Amino acid sequence: MSTKKLTLQEKIARLRASFVNQLPARLEEAQQQMKLLKSDPEMNRVIAIELHRAFHSLKGTGKSFGFNDLAVVAEQAEIYTQQLIDLPANRTPSDWPDTLVDLIHQLAAQVQILAYTDLNNDHPLDAPFFDVEETSSMQINSDSPLIYICDDEPEQVDHIAYQLGCFGYQIKHFTDTNSFHQAVLNKRPDAVVMDVFFPDGRTAGTDELASLKEITGQHLPSIVLSGRDDFEARLSAVRAGCSAYFIKPAKPLDLAAALDDLMCEKQDEPYRILIVDDEPEVAEYHSLILEEEAGMLVYQTHKPEVILDALRSFNPDLVLADMYMPNCDGVEMASIIRQVPEYVGLPIVFLSSETNRKKQFTAMQVGVEGFITKPVIPEELVASVALRAERMRTLRGLMAKDSLTGLYNHTTTTEMMTAALAHAVRQQENLAVVMIDLDKFKTVNDTYGHMAGDQVIVAMARLLKHRLRSTDVIGRYGGEEFALLLKNLTTEKAEALVNELREDFSRIIFNAGNAKFKVTFSAGISLYPGYNSPEELRLAADAALYEAKELGRNQVVVSKVVNKAKP
Ligand code: GH3
Ligand code: MG
Ligand code: MG
Repeated sequence: MSTKKLTLQEKIARLRASFVNQLPARLEEAQQQMKLLKSDPEMNRVIAIELHRAFHSLKGTGKSFGFNDLAVVAEQAEIYTQQLIDLPANRTPSDWPDTLVDLIHQLAAQVQILAYTDLNNDHPLDAPFFDVEETSSMQINSDSPLIYICDDEPEQVDHIAYQLGCFGYQIKHFTDTNSFHQAVLNKRPDAVVMDVFFPDGRTAGTDELASLKEITGQHLPSIVLSGRDDFEARLSAVRAGCSAYFIKPAKPLDLAAALDDLMCEKQDEPYRILIVDDEPEVAEYHSLILEEEAGMLVYQTHKPEVILDALRSFNPDLVLADMYMPNCDGVEMASIIRQVPEYVGLPIVFLSSETNRKKQFTAMQVGVEGFITKPVIPEELVASVALRAERMRTLRGLMAKDSLTGLYNHTTTTEMMTAALAHAVRQQENLAVVMIDLDKFKTVNDTYGHMAGDQVIVAMARLLKHRLRSTDVIGRYGGEEFALLLKNLTTEKAEALVNELREDFSRIIFNAGNAKFKVTFSAGISLYPGYNSPEELRLAADAALYEAKELGRNQVVVSKVVNKAKP
């Protein structure tokens, strides 16, 4: 058993214990309410509603934590108090107050039993949990992804390695399969590129493919380079589990694109889930499942009243809410969320022990996306949350990102500049704004065609994505203009970094038919502190860029702050 799973089980055991410890107090409260019941019929209804809520939550939490006997009695009490609520005013049921007294006694008995249960030796939660292996092998080299290439033609590989290096990939080259396999076992690369030889007419069963399958069996992204373009050869590669297939000689740009696709699957940020549940233990339990089993980022709140603040500050991909809460129930809260135009598309999922179709339907009408019935099956919770959060991500991406490059579009970049500056001011950190413009790009289009021009823009975006930190912001500011927000760098460091990017970019070889060409860019940099508003920063970076163009292009200019007092 992995240490991770042990910790999770321990945490859950602690939550269960905490729930059990609170039970006597909850019971006591219900008994106090009971005593108040007899006097005034108006009052009775109010108290019945309170009791109903208490029983409902006891049922839900009890089920979640696997205390089924307790949950069964709580459910009977819930149904009974519902009947009380539904009675016309001034009516007293014939079994009054015996049934309710009896139910409370039964609950007390259950609480008593649980107080003497050894929670460590009672594992009702074991079954539904996944058997997690250590999944930390997913971790990715944050600086530069490591790629192994196995190919016995050194010149071709040198060229590919050099070009991929410009995009920020770290390449190791092997000329024989033995040392290649050994290397994979010693240090796992982020992906492998492998030259595969297929004997004529035969496809399956070659040594290379078999060992490739062995390697890809560990979910190692792999790209096949092959001399053959027929269906059978491609099929063998697919069956061996490879992720992409290129005919030799492969173009480095195509390989970089394929590697990017393979890498970004893993680099995605965790889903952000906001849990709203008035029961802290239940919120904690569900958040543990999402965090520890699926690596999501969870923020909990126990008060629906703070929902709008929580949405603003946490910016979740999905809200997972309890349906029954005091003061404001889940449906009402969902309606409030839907009043804000920004959150109209935000997925809301209810976690509820409510199986009543009619009530679920009411919730659907205010735009709730789904229901998960308590007690949840962890796999089901993870799957339905992930599915909806992913859809939200895609939608947001389409709105905020540029379709050609996947970079932030102009509007989003501008918004992020304001946010990044506010953050820098708060943290007393530097913020560098970089404006980049491709040199003589009109000529590129005119000479090699618009498609070739697009290829250059995409390569530029790719280079930036690889070489900057995940905290930096990269935007496509205009057609062939890019804006970067680099956090916490000195002017010298920012200048050195952009110069390095500039040099590497100028070495990339582009293809248009048989023609090969290179492109350069110019850049202007401005820095906070010195320039103290988004507008000042942008104008200063623009002016510096203009200066770089005037000075002959293919260079970086840092804006000198005009000496002026800080506001
Ligand atoms: P310089 O910036 O060095 O002064 O010269 P330039 O030729 O790059 O300057 P200009 O801003 O006049 O031209 C930019 C060109 O970029 C014009 C436009 O056709 C091209 N362009 C803009 N967006 C795209 C795009 O998405 N794809 C392609 N292929 N070309 C684009
Ligand atoms: Mg331009
Ligand atoms: Mg230009």
